Amino acid sequence: MSTKIVKIELSGNKLFSFGPMHILRDRRELEAYRANRESIGFVPTMGALHDGHLSLVRASKQENACTIVSIFVNPRQFNNPEDLEKYPRDLDADIHLLEKARVDAVFVPTAEVMYPPGEDVSTYEHDFAALETVMEGAYRPGHFKGMAMVVHKFLEMVKPDKAYFGRKDFQQLLIIRNLVKKTGLPVEIRSLPIRREENGLAMSSRNQRLGEKDREKAGALFQSLQWMQGNFYEMPVAELKNTARARLESRFPEIEIEYLEIADANTLRPTNSKENAMAFIAAYVAGIRLIDNIELNGRTNQP
Ligand code: AMP
Repeated sequence: MSTKIVKIELSGNKLFSFGPMHILRDRRELEAYRANRESIGFVPTMGALHDGHLSLVRASKQENACTIVSIFVNPRQFNNPEDLEKYPRDLDADIHLLEKARVDAVFVPTAEVMYPPGEDVSTYEHDFAALETVMEGAYRPGHFKGMAMVVHKFLEMVKPDKAYFGRKDFQQLLIIRNLVKKTGLPVEIRSLPIRREENGLAMSSRNQRLGEKDREKAGALFQSLQWMQGNFYEMPVAELKNTARARLESRFPEIEIEYLEIADANTLRPTNSKENAMAFIAAYVAGIRLIDNIELNGRTNQP
């Protein structure tokens, strides 16, 4: 047996990794770990990890000496207590995946670490004007305030050179860019395309809660977006939206569409323009809320 093959087998066994992944639980451990690290890439997540998250990890590993992933289901960004309670959690599986991906450190704070009792959080409360009131903001009141608060805190604590976000949560991405501009936090925000299942369904932790048939059905959301992309220059925007909605409703009356919008990619305001436009959808499939988006001017979000 050649040495090369032995190395591959050892690597599969994790014996060949460059040392164990650090598990950091509080600010002190994080501070001690990050001291003297060269460049730090940071990937904030809420766990129940999938390949969408891992695509951010891979980008971070390529661009930084050290990658820190956080796992924290942030209670402040859930407007619905049942949604928070049912949010999928599997820390052991997540840690295993991150070890396999050769992540350097995982930060797993408790709510008390992120929100010390008695702390004045007003410095972490931001106003994003229309960016936080349309689409997701309209249907999930308080969601972006809570999300921006925790991201602001994480960026202050981890002090990364670069932080990685998926374009699946496009509105979140724009708000984070706005947050960084407002606060002057010295971090570069990097964004990555949407990773999808074979049927086009955008990968999401919430997909774990869908049965096999509903996962298949949920591919219809992306198919609607693709249909809008394919027909974008064929009809006025209002007609495109109405037709896409009617097609989806007639195919799957049981899918409950929350919004299906065409909006400007910078302001996120609804637009009738044929330039810089994106389509966004939020819908319930079997009671699970899913979101997705696509660029309409040629560039695509496909894998
Ligand atoms: P979450 O754990 O859902 O808060 O997501 C953590 C990060 O992963 C966010 O920046 C998401 O936009 C990103 N992400 C989630 N799903 C995907 C996906 N399917 N493709 C790319 N990035 C994703």
